[in-house]
Amino acid sequence: MELPTGPAPLVALTFDDGPRNSTTGRLLEGLELREVCSTFFLVGSRIEGSEALIQEMAAAGHQIGIHTYDHVMITDLSRQDFDLQVGKTRALLSEILGPGDYWLRPPYGIVDRSVVKWADGPLVLWSVDPEDWKDNDTGRIVAAVTEHVSDGDIILMHDIYDSSVDAALNIVDILLDRGYCFVTVEQLITLRGLQAEKGRLYTALRPAED
Ligand SMILES: [Zn+2]
Repeated sequence: MELPTGPAPLVALTFDDGPRNSTTGRLLEGLELREVCSTFFLVGSRIEGSEALIQEMAAAGHQIGIHTYDHVMITDLSRQDFDLQVGKTRALLSEILGPGDYWLRPPYGIVDRSVVKWADGPLVLWSVDPEDWKDNDTGRIVAAVTEHVSDGDIILMHDIYDSSVDAALNIVDILLDRGYCFVTVEQLITLRGLQAEKGRLYTALRPAED
């Protein structure tokens, strides 16, 4: 086995479209067991009935963000509707967790200049997409991530599928074995020596080249 040299490679697992009590709950248990933090972008309309789960999520150190209220294409929205989709979700999260920075992940990863301006915070995209929603093939999802991941990647997954939860925990085991350190998106930015900026799109944060 090759021994790691230098600082550990970093990776951020991110989960969209939840919460869903059954699958998200199982994922949280698995991540806790492995002492791994990730980032969850929640759909506002799914929050009711999952308040305890969201509190648990935050208490475990996961980062929580917004994935709009109804999972809509935000580039189609008027300013007023954008504020409703994001603001309503932010208000719900603030009620449960207290006021905070809840960053936005645009559904489908689609933004335009207005959205970037309206978001009034960092926008989180991704650099590795195993398309875990496409099938329930855990093995394929695991391979799609572990064969392509590199230092600084942001991985997109969805915590509403059992197969995605299985795959995510499997990915964690494999990458921990390879010496990877799992961090939230916010931690990833900080550990790269940067400060999160409003209106900036984050896809991957590679280590600085010497
Ligand atoms: Zn989504």
